[in-house]
Amino acid sequence: MKKTTGTDRSVTQNWRPATRAVRAGTWRSEHGETSEALFLTSGYTYDDAATVAARFAGDAEGMTYSRLQNPTVAMCEERIAVLEGAEACRMQATGMAAMTTALLCQLSAGDHIVGARAAFGSCRWLLDNLLPRFGIETSVVDGRDLAAWEAAIRPNTKVFFFETPANPTMDIVDLEAICALAKAHGITTVVDNAFATAALQRPLEWGADVVAYSATKLMEGQGRVLAGAVCGSQQWIDEVLLPFQRNTGPNCSPFNAWVVLKGLETLDLRARRQSANALALAKSIESRVPVMLHPGLPSHPQHDIAKKQMDDFGPIFSFVLDSRAQAHAVLDALQLVDISNNIGDSKSLMCHPASTTHANMGEEARAEMGISEGMLRINVGLEDRADVIEDLDQALKKAGL
Ligand SMILES: *Cc1c(COP(=O)(O)O)cnc(C)c1O
Repeated sequence: MKKTTGTDRSVTQNWRPATRAVRAGTWRSEHGETSEALFLTSGYTYDDAATVAARFAGDAEGMTYSRLQNPTVAMCEERIAVLEGAEACRMQATGMAAMTTALLCQLSAGDHIVGARAAFGSCRWLLDNLLPRFGIETSVVDGRDLAAWEAAIRPNTKVFFFETPANPTMDIVDLEAICALAKAHGITTVVDNAFATAALQRPLEWGADVVAYSATKLMEGQGRVLAGAVCGSQQWIDEVLLPFQRNTGPNCSPFNAWVVLKGLETLDLRARRQSANALALAKSIESRVPVMLHPGLPSHPQHDIAKKQMDDFGPIFSFVLDSRAQAHAVLDALQLVDISNNIGDSKSLMCHPASTTHANMGEEARAEMGISEGMLRINVGLEDRADVIEDLDQALKKAGL
């Protein structure tokens, strides 16, 4: 394997983001292939016993087993790290494997974690159910409220955990303020950046320590595979994350990493076009829906913070109708947009969180998170925006709006 300029950080750090997304991390075999190779192998062979001994001792570079290293996964990890502006990245099998790894690798019984209340359902499950079972204390706060984060800090607080924009309320967490507060107390911030991706928002630039991903979403971009990633400093990845990952094995398969690697080549293009499509759609229906939740619109309560920390606002937004029946009527009237709970896809997809992604948590927890019965969430894809706007127009009309 020959490393290209894409693996030389002194070169890649000078590239602009779209170039990084296409070229960072590339290695080439003796065939000189243009598209990165897919190494579907679990093991490796060695020319002699001394070589393998040196690799296992850490004295020589080289792969030993795909739970520890794989060339295709390593290419994707390097590409994600360079895009994020992170020293290092490791991939996991799913976004939830990434979140679980990012938290469990650094928390022990007796530690305390503070999380934002508006979160992906399974991220809330980690805070509400899994971590307490292992003696890790958890607090949940309104992520928009700096004073609430500060008030939740205890002497044993180790981690702040949040996503921004948050799913599906579109709450924005002030990255600079919350990361500064954490830093002042020696607390590690873990930011779930799945909605925006590094193409639109780079939390490390605002002081975050760790960025965790569902790469299944906008990063992969075409709804094909599940994958996750965790980015941080080289020291944190080597000393904190790797001992956990190498021994527990939440690894990403080479095939899925390869699909994400190819998806990243179009990330910049997709993120910008889908953001523009989403903003145009939100503007076209804003006056017809009771509540519009799009961080790119001046009507969003945290529009100024979103503008400060995001390059663009992403493909996803939510809006609230008067009832579950009305929300379901809009879904049932759609002709182009699919009813689907996935996001980040190049196809436009819409869902009703209260009866799908956030159904299990119960009505009380939903109300606390700000998820009402009439809320709809849409991921706007790469179709011609005029067609999506026309579809929503006719669906809202049919639902009496
Ligand atoms: C989808 C999602 C996850 C979970 O990712 P999977 O790849 O489905 O495991 C976590 N956080 C956010 C914000 C998500 O949107």
